[in-house]
Amino acid sequence: MQSAKKPLDGKTHRYGMVIDLDRCTGCGACMVACAVENNVPPGDPAANERTGISWLRIYRMNDGQPLPETRTAFVPVPCQQCGAKAPCVSVCPQNAVEVDRSSGIVGQIPVRCLGCRYCMAACPYHARSFNWWDPVWPAGMKESLNPDVSTRTRGVVEKCNFCFHRLQAARAKAAAAGSREESPGDYLPACVEACPTSAFLFGDLDDPTSDVAKAAEGKGTFRLLEKLGTDPKVIYRSARPWVRQMADGALPRNGKEEHRG
Ligand code: SF4
Repeated sequence: MQSAKKPLDGKTHRYGMVIDLDRCTGCGACMVACAVENNVPPGDPAANERTGISWLRIYRMNDGQPLPETRTAFVPVPCQQCGAKAPCVSVCPQNAVEVDRSSGIVGQIPVRCLGCRYCMAACPYHARSFNWWDPVWPAGMKESLNPDVSTRTRGVVEKCNFCFHRLQAARAKAAAAGSREESPGDYLPACVEACPTSAFLFGDLDDPTSDVAKAAEGKGTFRLLEKLGTDPKVIYRSARPWVRQMADGALPRNGKEEHRG
């Protein structure tokens, strides 16, 4: 199993995102952008909520009040990019789940996957999808697939990898310019780029000068199921106590303002 140890040379990063739930309108632009960017096929006609493929789901919550007082919030949930003890990594018998040491990104390697789905059972965020069918592309769509992302076949698991191919492209661009370091502005996942309300902030959580690192330590931030010790690199924030409490049942239900220290 690969670990998140630092390589012997070169700077390392810990890429992550902060999702502002007070900005998210649940429009789904991030889901569509993700599917298009990563060649996620349309659902098989026989697929249902459990057997379809999605790298990013949006959950809708409401505060339980009767209409017209009811209030609604939306929670986009990609792979939470857990830390060094990512549950999906240790259970894979094929080394098909690896942590990239230079970025902290948890990746899935479909050609190694034997389809046992241990990783799906281990993931507490339901962030993984299994290909129950070979992909079927509608007429004309096959010609417009993203050439930077391999399509997957029946029998393997897949998930969000923060658009890792975009990081590789940013590094190739930097190398062509004689630099070993990608420029922060050259690497953004498709969901971050597509959000019309700028609900996503993305960058290096280990860079204290980055907007994402500052936002991650701000008021009203929390991580999903943090008590499990998964150390996610996806961080949420909301100024509304009921949103924080409902999004993560682990938070105290006292209605007071709190933030991660
Ligand atoms: Fe693995 Fe699930 Fe954590 Fe993603 S969210 S790193 S798939 S355990």
